[in-house]
Amino acid sequence: MNRLVIVANRVPNPRERGATAGGLAVALRDALARREALWFGWSGQTAETTEIEPREFRVGRITYATLDLGREDYRRYYQGFSNASLWPTLHYRLGLVQFSRDDLAGYRRVNAAFAEALAPLLRPDDTIWAHDFHLFPFGAELRRLGCRQRIGFFLHVPFPPAALFWALPQAEALLADLAAYDVIGVQSEDDAINLRGALAAIGKEEAVSRVAAFPIGIEAESFTALAEKAMVKRETERFQQSLVGRSLIIGVDRLDYTKGLPQRFCGFGQLLARFPEHRSKVTYLQVAPVSRGDVAQYRALRRELDEWAGRINGQYAEPDWMPLRYMTRAVARPVLAGFMRLARIGLVTPLRDGMNLVAKEYVAAQDPEDPGVLVLSRFAGAVAQLPGALLVNPLDPDEIAEALDQALTMPREDRRARWEECVVSVRRDGAQAWCHDFLSRLEGANDA
Ligand code: ADP
Repeated sequence: MNRLVIVANRVPNPRERGATAGGLAVALRDALARREALWFGWSGQTAETTEIEPREFRVGRITYATLDLGREDYRRYYQGFSNASLWPTLHYRLGLVQFSRDDLAGYRRVNAAFAEALAPLLRPDDTIWAHDFHLFPFGAELRRLGCRQRIGFFLHVPFPPAALFWALPQAEALLADLAAYDVIGVQSEDDAINLRGALAAIGKEEAVSRVAAFPIGIEAESFTALAEKAMVKRETERFQQSLVGRSLIIGVDRLDYTKGLPQRFCGFGQLLARFPEHRSKVTYLQVAPVSRGDVAQYRALRRELDEWAGRINGQYAEPDWMPLRYMTRAVARPVLAGFMRLARIGLVTPLRDGMNLVAKEYVAAQDPEDPGVLVLSRFAGAVAQLPGALLVNPLDPDEIAEALDQALTMPREDRRARWEECVVSVRRDGAQAWCHDFLSRLEGANDA
């Protein structure tokens, strides 16, 4: 079988395991186990200038080839254009977009540098798969260097309606570059419709039919096993004892402004205000490890959440009951899986999310005999695969409060019926299926 070349902004460090393994590494595990692979991208380190020659090392059948980024390139390409321009635009948040020509130039420069560094390592029959919004122009750069291999692209985040995308200066050129890819994968049908519309609007008709939705999934069996095993762990027991018969609501998110955390905290406050019968009977644990802490908007969000948490606990706490437990430290995956299993409610309310894997993990973690209820934003890509979830508008704290009340009082039979509707596709449309579907499309693409 020919080699698979994965290109992503970050290359996972194979020496780090467990909680630190990125979602992409988990999703690709199966595909990478079956064939020879090269994983190419940024090392995660910065240097004076961006390296030209990748550092290569091999672990099993996977070769890793990484580059350090120059500090200026890191600032322009990563913090600047990727995180401050593209990230908010793609998540429908034009009010948060910061744009500079220098950032865009840095973004293009790094994409070109990646292509130049990778090209000499390529074999004629490689299949190349580039990941995410950091790499819009990467395929076009490879083509400029004469690469004829199959190159696929997958966008892990949403693609907004074209009118929003046009707000990005030089949006057309960026989009036109996407047409260099043989397959352009997105998370949902809505994303596919939006992206096709944008491509058609700039006359890239040939690229329209290469856009398709491939909803990413999780390794459900292994997550279920993790949750089961966690039940006998000391951390789980201690946590369970601290709940003393109270129902648990759990939220697990990176601390990011797309996750709807202030509105979610407010919704929990509304639950306690409007449904006083739940006071003292429910505990909400929010785990939200700090991410992108060097960006001003993320620091501001953290302050806002500190304030919300203080206000809610100040207003409703009793000497023996703290309604909201909020932590910004990461929790190891095997422990987290157990906490999810203990929770009566999984509260997942992003304002916009490409997929949201936490929602699927929560479903996989449940005890089939006595499962909890998933309260899910209608703006998460995962909605299409989770028909049994209670859907909410994440901008409406009252709707969140009402859904929480409904979930807290839901009879076991109803919970089971809803959970069963969700778990079917969480199991079927897993990480393996996602990889397989995308690669089949890509590798069949030029054979027709
Ligand atoms: P995003 O990719 O935007 O962060 P997802 O929900 O799609 O959101 O994926 C997040 C992944 O990171 C999930 O696998 C989740 O279990 C993991 N994760 C999120 N928060 C934590 C945490 N506090 N501790 C450990 N893992 C976490």
